[in-house]
Amino acid sequence: MQHSQEKEVVIIGAGIGGLTLALALHRVGIRCRIYESVTELKPLGVGLNLLPHAMKEPARLGLQERLLAKGQETREYCFFTSHGQLVHREPRGKFAGYAWPQVSIHRGDLQMTLLAAVEERLGADVLHLGQRCTGVEQDDAGVTVHLQDSGSGAPLAPVSAQVVVACDGVHSVIRKQFHPAEARPRYQGSTQWRGVTRAKPFMSGASMAYVGTYHTGKLITYPIRDNIDGEGTQLINWVIEFAKPEEEERDWNRQGRLEDFLHLFEHSQFEWLDIPAMLREADAVYEYPMVDQDPLGFWTVGRVTLLGDAAHPMMPRGSNGAAQAIIDATALADLLAAEDDPRRALQAYEHKRLKATGDVVLANREIAPDAILLVVEERTGGKPFERLEDVISAQELLAWQERYKRVAGFDAGTLSAAP
Ligand SMILES: Cc1cc2nc3c(=O)[nH]c(=O)nc-3n(C[C@H](O)[C@H](O)[C@H](O)COP(=O)(O)OP(=O)(O)OC[C@H]3O[C@@H](n4cnc5c(N)ncnc54)[C@H](O)[C@@H]3O)c2cc1C
Repeated sequence: MQHSQEKEVVIIGAGIGGLTLALALHRVGIRCRIYESVTELKPLGVGLNLLPHAMKEPARLGLQERLLAKGQETREYCFFTSHGQLVHREPRGKFAGYAWPQVSIHRGDLQMTLLAAVEERLGADVLHLGQRCTGVEQDDAGVTVHLQDSGSGAPLAPVSAQVVVACDGVHSVIRKQFHPAEARPRYQGSTQWRGVTRAKPFMSGASMAYVGTYHTGKLITYPIRDNIDGEGTQLINWVIEFAKPEEEERDWNRQGRLEDFLHLFEHSQFEWLDIPAMLREADAVYEYPMVDQDPLGFWTVGRVTLLGDAAHPMMPRGSNGAAQAIIDATALADLLAAEDDPRRALQAYEHKRLKATGDVVLANREIAPDAILLVVEERTGGKPFERLEDVISAQELLAWQERYKRVAGFDAGTLSAAP
């Protein structure tokens, strides 16, 4: 097969990482094509968070205002015990002095915003839908990508490129090709149920609330679209985590059942939010196991590399799945622009991002941002406290938060030191 000598990147997967990579490559003048297995990109999923270190990249791509218009700028995090007692409250994003905002947004709004920008800037014909990648082959001159029709399964004509980036998510075929003997995903023994509810704002209308721990049922909730009806109603995202012995397969679209977790919050009618009412009025409920995979030893083979969930599937905790995919994408595009030899660029990308993202995968197992609530639960035996200062000091509270931010790469020191 003939390979053109021009630097052109084939991207496998038009999710958050793949679309961001296309925009970042366009910004540095490198051509690309995207092959995506679904026949139509639909705004699937529920809410996610773009932390300041992730918003820095869409800001560089000129998308900050569009994302702020679609999502909800997060003002603060509030941590409550399962009895609704406030443990800690801290400002976030620009309200905490970062140069970039934190944006809570529907995954579909994020993906559709990226897609619209790709179509405007690169043209709709860079995107090839309904084409599933089945593997890659390469020689010194380039890479051949094997594809099949997603509907019929029939093989399609292979395509060639100088560089291939696998952005094909948690079930990545290229990851399997590079690491055929990899251990199966690691289940943490708990599951997440996620949903959205249309409701009036709670607290500041831009607050993210963490309530309880996964021992008794943990809830995280925050608005992701503001004023959806002209009368101040918001689309409110919520996520519940609770122990579940049996593990389900990873499927972002798996429907969940309200009766599996509603009982955990039966008595959680707080002054600031009626949690059972919010859960009962959900538009839809999805279930996803708390699963991740050990960090890999390598992502890059010659002219092919992994990015986003394909490279570092992590537990959906701490708002880092989309964030790390976005950071991978812009880092890779910058390195491809800086290096003549794409193979050296891919090695440099792996060097820059493999350890950094592996640390986040491991941190998500140990120190979630709400680890503080586990500490309080342990010290109080799960009972209401009289005075918080008898349970934990203000310094200790701050030290816990800073520790998580440092590992996830968004403590103020790391961000302001970044070029
Ligand atoms: C349908 C869906 C819903 C999701 N919902 C949520 C959510 O509610 N909350 C949350 O935090 N995260 C959600 N995620 C995951 C989240 O998008 C990712 O964790 C994160 O954004 C990293 O993005 P990514 O580009 O690496 O992976 P993804 O965003 O998962 O994108 C992977 C893309 O690759 C495509 N693909 C897969 N295999 C192939 C193949 N062989 N050939 C070609 N294309 C392929 C997929 O169709 C998909 O478009 C969801 C993902 C999907 C696919």
